[in-house]
Amino acid sequence: MRGLLFSSGFIFSILQGLLFQTLLFFFSSFPISADTLSGSLDTVKYLTGDYNKSEMLVKFENKIEKNIFFLRKDAANALEKMMEAYDIDRENISKQHIFISSAFRSFSDQKAIWEGKYKGDRKMRESVSGKTPEQIISLILEYSSAPGTSRHHWGTDFDLNVLKNDYYKKNGKGEFLYEWLRKNASRFGFCQPYNEYDQRGNKGYVEERWHWSYAPVANKLQTEWLRLYKEGKLNFKGKYTGSDYLKDLPPVYVSSINNACAKIK
Ligand SMILES: [Zn+2]
Repeated sequence: MRGLLFSSGFIFSILQGLLFQTLLFFFSSFPISADTLSGSLDTVKYLTGDYNKSEMLVKFENKIEKNIFFLRKDAANALEKMMEAYDIDRENISKQHIFISSAFRSFSDQKAIWEGKYKGDRKMRESVSGKTPEQIISLILEYSSAPGTSRHHWGTDFDLNVLKNDYYKKNGKGEFLYEWLRKNASRFGFCQPYNEYDQRGNKGYVEERWHWSYAPVANKLQTEWLRLYKEGKLNFKGKYTGSDYLKDLPPVYVSSINNACAKIK
């Protein structure tokens, strides 16, 4: 009897060990927790904006403008709180309220922007005529992401108010707003990924004072995007005009962001 008990206990402990190993393998293959990502949605599709927005994101309505945008629920909640705090602080000082001008953009939304600029239908700093594909790409990449590489795919990032740096500079209408954001946005989890160009080793997109990111989630998504790219799982060749000339620019543009974002957990 004693021998039998010993052996069944022994077998039990082996099974327990096997179960533990299996669970360890299962969880280690998902470095981002399910609630940070989407649970059932494929990671590659999510990170490259190739999904139905209502599957992952919630509606965000500008209170005065009444137009609707899509964001992750965690980002939208944090933004609501930040707007409330800003409205209290700006009273009798600034007439400029916060509103969203752009939030989620899908792969195909970004493709329309990209190809519009590539073909010269959308205005840029210089005309595309007479330029090589490489020159056109670097011109577009001053302000616009290649499809599949945009932080706007993630539902964590949005553009505020006016898409011009001057609006936020000294004597601009959004001067108080911008100074307030610089001081307070991190308390709500937000950072400005495209800060002064020379603060990022003159790499990536030029400065965008209007673009803000919900860092606690976007930081993880950025790490995951770069990991998948390195593994060859994010491939844009043949997917849009000029995609064959991107070479290794995508990870440079995805990783060249404000150091302050990484400090927000
Ligand atoms: Zn933006």
